[in-house]
Amino acid sequence: MGLEENLKKAEVYLARFKADGVLHHIDGEAVASADGATFESLSPVDLKPLAQVARGSAADIDRAARAAKAAFRDWAAMPGTTRKKLLHKIADRIVERAEEIAFVECMDTGQALKFMAKAALRGAENFRFFADRAPEARDGKTLHTTGQINLTSRYPIGPVGVITPWNTPFMLSTWKIAPALAAGCTVVHKPAEFSPLTAKLLIEIAEEAGLPKGVWNLVNGLGEEAGKALTEHPDIKAIGFVGESRTGAMIMKQGAETLKRVHFELGGKNPVIVFADADLDRAADAAIFMIYSLNGERCTSSSRLLVEASIYEDFTARVAERAKRIPIGHPLDPRTVLGPLVHPVHEKKVLAYMDIARAEGATIATGGTRVEGPGGGPYVAPTLFTNATNSMRIAQEEIFGPVLTAIPFKDEAEALALSNDTRYGLSGYLWTSDVTRALRFTEALDAGMIWVNSENVRHLPTPFGGTRNSGIGRDGGDWSFDFYMETKNVAFATVPHPITKLDH
Ligand code: NAD
Repeated sequence: MGLEENLKKAEVYLARFKADGVLHHIDGEAVASADGATFESLSPVDLKPLAQVARGSAADIDRAARAAKAAFRDWAAMPGTTRKKLLHKIADRIVERAEEIAFVECMDTGQALKFMAKAALRGAENFRFFADRAPEARDGKTLHTTGQINLTSRYPIGPVGVITPWNTPFMLSTWKIAPALAAGCTVVHKPAEFSPLTAKLLIEIAEEAGLPKGVWNLVNGLGEEAGKALTEHPDIKAIGFVGESRTGAMIMKQGAETLKRVHFELGGKNPVIVFADADLDRAADAAIFMIYSLNGERCTSSSRLLVEASIYEDFTARVAERAKRIPIGHPLDPRTVLGPLVHPVHEKKVLAYMDIARAEGATIATGGTRVEGPGGGPYVAPTLFTNATNSMRIAQEEIFGPVLTAIPFKDEAEALALSNDTRYGLSGYLWTSDVTRALRFTEALDAGMIWVNSENVRHLPTPFGGTRNSGIGRDGGDWSFDFYMETKNVAFATVPHPITKLDH
C-alpha cells in the first residue's frame, strides 16, 4: 500500500473524530465534560484540527472515580480465569483493528507507520501477557517457622489512576492498564492532551469485548486540570504514571495528602557505550536505530553516544553519514522512518537545543535544522552533535527528539564515570566483545535496564523501569502486580506457645 491509499483510509478512520469529537468514557457511556469544555487536538502532519476533545475537570474525574469505585467489588471478585478470557478477547479485537489503531496513531502523533503497525500489535501482546497471569495474581507464599504457619496472599488495591504521555500512547496505555485489570483493579485513565485519539479506541474495544461498565473509565484533559484532580482523588488508591521527571515530582506532591501509592516511569539520557573491540557495524546500526526511530521521542532512546577515543572520529563520521540518509516523510508513507514531531511546542524545545549546542561549543556534524516535509508539520532533521563534553546541557538534558550527542572516552573508567554522570538512570547500551569487561561494566552502570551488544529488545517478563530521576518501581511480570495489589500475611499458631501474662 502506498501513501495515497493510506491517506484515503486514514480519512475514513478519522472521520468519526472530526464529526463527533472525543468524549470522555465513564461508566460505559461516552459523555461530554460536566461544564461542556473542550480543547482542539491537532495533527502534527499539517497542524490542522483532528478533533474537539472533552476537557475534563475535577467534576469529571470525580464521576469517573465513583464509577471505578462502584465497579471494583465485582471486578475484584471475578475469578482470574474469567478475567484471563476477557483480556484475551480485548487482545483479539486489538489485532482485528490494528490497522485502524496504527493509522489514527500516526496522524495523531506523527510517528511513522513502519513502527506504529507493530506498536498496535505490541499492545495486544501486553494484554495477552497479563491475561495469562491473571489466574495467579492473588497467589502468595506459605512461610513456616517453629509453631507458626504464615499464609500470604495478594488483593487488588482498589480503583487506580493511569496517566500516560503522548509518545506511542496506545502501546504505553496497554502496558499500564492491562496489568491493573489483570490484578483486579478498576481504572481511570487520563491520556496525554497532545495525542488523545487511540485511548478512545482502546476503551471502546475493551467494552465491545465484554469488559463490564465502570471497570475502565477515560477522562481526557490537561495535566494540571484533569491529571491533577485524578492524583488528588481520595477514592483512587494508586497512580501509575509515565511522563517527565518533573511531572512525577508534582504528582508525588499532589498525591501526598491522600497517601497515594505511585509508580513512575520517567525520563532518560541513556548512554550507548561503544568500545573499540565491539562489532562496530552492529553498534552503529543499533545506536542509529535507538535515537532516530520513533522520531527520537522514546524514553529509552540512546541519546548519549560514548565512543572510545581511538575510533571516535571514524565512528561518529559513519553515524553522521548514515543519519543523513534516513528517509523523512509523511507518517503514512510506508518508506518513512522519521515523521514530524508531535507538536510545534515540542519542536520549539528540540530546536532550541541546536542553539544551545552551538553556544556550548559543540559541532553540529549533521542535521541541526527544521526540514520541509509533507503537510508542513514540525519535521526536524536527524541531528548529531560532536565535540561535546558530558557537562554540556546537550549531554545532560532529555531533548526527546532525533538528536544524538557524541562524546569520546579514553578508557573504561572514564566511560563508566561519564555513563553514570547524569541525573537519570533509565537504560544503557554496551558494545564490547570482552565478556569480562561487560560483566564488570554492567555491574557498575547505574541504570534500570541494560542491553549488551543489542538494541532495546523487550522480553515482557523482565522488569522495566529506571533508577534515580528515571523512575520509581518496576513494570513487567510480577512487578506490575506488586504495585497494583496489597499483600496480606496471616499467621496461624500450630502449637500453644507461651503467651506472656501481664497481669501478675
Ligand atoms: P508529561 O510529563 O508532560 O505528561 C505526561 C502526562 O502527565 C500527560 O497525560 C499530562 O497531561 C500529565 N500531567 C502533566 N502535568 C500533570 C500534573 N500536574 N498532574 C497530573 N498529571 C499531569 O510528559 P510528556 O511530555 O507527555 O511525555 C514525554 C516524557 O515521558 C519524557 O520525559 C519521556 O522520557 C517520558 N516517558 C517515559 C517512559 C518510561 O517508561 N520511563 C516511557 C515513555 C515516556
